[in-house]
Amino acid sequence: MKNYLAERTKVVDASGIRKVFALGATLKDPVNFSIGQPDFDVPDPIKEVAIQAIREGQNRYSQTAGEDSVLEMLRPRVKAETGWNNPQVMLTSGVTGGLLLAFMALINPGDEVIIPDPYFVMYKHLVRMLGGKCVFVDCYPDFSLPVEKIAAAVTDKTKLIILNSPNNPSGQVYSAQDLKAVAEIAQKRDIILLSDEIYEMYNYERSQVSAATYYDKTVLLKGFGKSYGITGWRMGYTACSETLKPLMEAMLMIQQYTFVCAPMPFQLALPTAMGYDMSTYVQAYRNKRDLLYEGLKGTFNVRKPIGAFYMFPEKPERYATATDFVKDAIAHNVLIIPGNVFSERDTHFRMCFTTTEDKIRQGVEILCQLAKG
Ligand code: PMP
Repeated sequence: MKNYLAERTKVVDASGIRKVFALGATLKDPVNFSIGQPDFDVPDPIKEVAIQAIREGQNRYSQTAGEDSVLEMLRPRVKAETGWNNPQVMLTSGVTGGLLLAFMALINPGDEVIIPDPYFVMYKHLVRMLGGKCVFVDCYPDFSLPVEKIAAAVTDKTKLIILNSPNNPSGQVYSAQDLKAVAEIAQKRDIILLSDEIYEMYNYERSQVSAATYYDKTVLLKGFGKSYGITGWRMGYTACSETLKPLMEAMLMIQQYTFVCAPMPFQLALPTAMGYDMSTYVQAYRNKRDLLYEGLKGTFNVRKPIGAFYMFPEKPERYATATDFVKDAIAHNVLIIPGNVFSERDTHFRMCFTTTEDKIRQGVEILCQLAKG
């Protein structure tokens, strides 16, 4: 039979995270550090508003950009955070929706996109599917923003620099100074910054600083899934300044022909979500981070993450690659993800600590034993 698949399917590989998921399904009661989402359910008052919206018949399309009442709540928030006078805001189907629309609106075949490595896996594959070229800049070993390397990576073909802070998979939060320096590089060469801030709520030490405060050609991507335990609701938003209004218009046009709008009844629950105090949930993850870090630090080369809910330790020396270590860990009932899923290197592994304290203790014990051999 003729090969019927489009060429773009050949430039990507099935997600390595999904492969570990599939393996996990075959294990009995594993210690699961693979899932990149909260383990709590959305608080009842937020759930109730969505249920109510469905009962009241709010089940049709919204405007392309989203419900006015929700956008009206978001605009002043974005303005306060960024200093932009008349921020442009649209609701998207998860942050993934915003990423796809922004990339489709910006990337021409051959355009270069600078991506700090390690990176959220979707960037690489979406950029490639659109014919763009990923230019990775290495952030090992401390995962802070490598400003000099970013400056050196810029060429006449650079269209976009991607920033993700708090970071998946490293848990690093970029300093205001480094963000400002990268914003200056972008401004000098007229490059767009894309700032994925989906983990902004999980910031355990620093207050969240956005590159958007330093540069009006920043595309801001924000989400609700990780913050409120509603990853399945597919809720996010994209914001930019008036300077990038044509970009927002292009994204809205592409939304019309792809997603149409973000899921309507869930949009209507967002004002309640945004008013809900999540600090006890954040504190619980801070404690879990500490528990995991204290358990690993004597045996593994690991940095204490400042944000998100991930840790990214180095593989033990006695394993040639992180993948080898992950295979052994999975054989011992612990699910972790090899670093090469998020990186051009295969030296580290990602652990998501959104599980119970008992499971964290159990997992630490098994991984430390394996490391010692
Ligand atoms: N950006 C980052 C950095 C992520 O980790 C994720 C989810 N793992 C996303 C975007 C996608 O989020 P959503 O579920 O809102 O599409």
